[in-house]
Amino acid sequence: MNNNDCIFCKIIKKEIPCPIVYEDDKVLAFLDINPVNKGHTLVIPKIHYENIYETPDEILGCMIITAKKIAIKLKKFIGAEGININMNNDAVSGQVIFHAHIHIIPRITNDGFTHWKGSPYKKGEAEEILQKIKS
Ligand code: AMP
Ligand code: ZN
Repeated sequence: MNNNDCIFCKIIKKEIPCPIVYEDDKVLAFLDINPVNKGHTLVIPKIHYENIYETPDEILGCMIITAKKIAIKLKKFIGAEGININMNNDAVSGQVIFHAHIHIIPRITNDGFTHWKGSPYKKGEAEEILQKIKS
């Protein structure tokens, strides 16, 4: 159910105080301690799953529905002009806390938060990748 060494499990158990944005029997949402912008919120499952792959579909559904509700609130009441929804999975993608979580990041013009840099496929690469993904 819970992992004793996990900081987010401690937040769920109220062992670590945290500003709670929303809570029900399946998910908890709270303010990120180190926000990109004010109102940056994390949505987590109440059961300890490490990442998206482990999290059951039903719980993921609850998480993203909660993220949507909070995103709308951030736009309405915090002055967010836009919202990034992000989930880091595995250390290589930037996951630091290994309890699944969705970031809801309010965005404002010129806030300095930059996107990843893309570069186009070379000839034939997209088809190759597509085949692998669909296999
Ligand atoms: P990630 O890099 O996706 O694993 O993000 C982990 C997030 O958890 C970071 O944005 C941290 O600022 C946030 N975080 C870590 N500890 C706490 C805490 N005690 N309360 C709220 N947010 C936290
Ligand atoms: Zn946990």
